[in-house]
Order: sequence, then C-alpha cells, then structure tokens
Amino acid sequence: MATGVGLLIALALLIGALLARAAARLPTDDEAEVERINALLPQTQCGQCGYPGCRPYAQALLLGTAEIDQCPPGGTATARALGELLGKRKPGPLPADAPAGVAIIDESSCIGCTRCIEVCPVDAIIGAATFSHTVIAADCTGCELCIPVCPVDCIRLETGSSPLPARVPA
Ligand code: SF4
Ligand code: SF4
Ligand code: SF4
Repeated sequence: MATGVGLLIALALLIGALLARAAARLPTDDEAEVERINALLPQTQCGQCGYPGCRPYAQALLLGTAEIDQCPPGGTATARALGELLGKRKPGPLPADAPAGVAIIDESSCIGCTRCIEVCPVDAIIGAATFSHTVIAADCTGCELCIPVCPVDCIRLETGSSPLPARVPA
C-alpha cells in the first residue's frame, strides 16, 4: 500500500514538473519568435507602423494583431520576408513602395535648438546647439518625427521619385 501511494506521489510530482516545464517554455518560444520577426525589421524605431518601435510591432505580428505591410521603411521586401516567416499570412499583391521622403532643414531659419536631433531615431541629423542643423539624406528614413518638434517650422519632407542620393541637400 505504502509503495502504491509512493508511486502515485512520484507520478504526480513528475506530471507537475512536466507541466511547469511546458509552461516555462512557452514564453521563451514566443520570445524567440519575436526575435526572429524583429530581426527582419529595419530597426529605425520610427513608429510609422503604429507601434512604438520595431520590437512592439514584431510582438503584434506574432499575436496576429498587426499586418505584415505596416512598415514603410521596410517596404515590400520586409513585408514579403515577414509573410514568408509567418507562413499562414503570406502577403497578397502589395502596392509599390512609396518613394521615401527625406527631411530637409532650411538652415537659414534653424535656431540650433537640437530638438530634431533628440527625436531622430536613426541619427540622421547633425548639428550643435545654436548652430544650424543638417539632415544626412542617405540616413533619413522619412519618418517625419523631426518635423513637429521644430519650433520654427524649418523642416520639411521632400518626396519624389529620384533616388535618395539625388536629393542630398547642398
Ligand atoms: S515602421 Fe518599421 S522601422 Fe519603423 S518602428 Fe515600425 S517596424 Fe520599425
Ligand atoms: S525624417 Fe527626420 S527624424 Fe525621421 S529619419 Fe529623417 S531626419 Fe530623422
Ligand atoms: S528643431 Fe528646427 S530649429 Fe531646432 S535644431 Fe532642428 S531644424 Fe533647427
């Protein structure tokens, strides 16, 4: 009898341990999947997808609450890669990538407040306090985050069909 009770206790402990292990593994698996998705994203942390950064967007994709075509900087290439990774939600026909915009600073109006530098997620703006600032066009993703913070409204987004290097400001 004592042996039977002992076996039952051992079995219960084993099942408990297995369940605990399975429960512990689920979040880890989810985290790994989020990392795989996140690795496909441009990491500009621009928020254009509607999430506060690439990783939150990756989490939403895993949860199924976001679509694969919400990342303008990544464009169709990223959407396709996400579709392939997520399998069941392969992309349908995707619209052509919109030409990327580039922020342009009117340096004659810039007061050098540095606010634009502080918000640029890709460090595409150079300048020092009280000196005029400039956008490194090749690094700008066109996220527009710098535009509303400028107190003198001297940043504009220039869009067009020409490639980025042709739009580098003088
Ligand atoms: S739009 Fe793309 S690059 Fe920007 S935060 Fe979202 S996932 Fe990252
Ligand atoms: S639009 Fe402005 S904030 Fe966005 S990447 Fe270009 S310079 Fe940086
Ligand atoms: S936010 Fe506007 S005024 Fe301030 S440094 Fe940037 S461009 Fe110049």
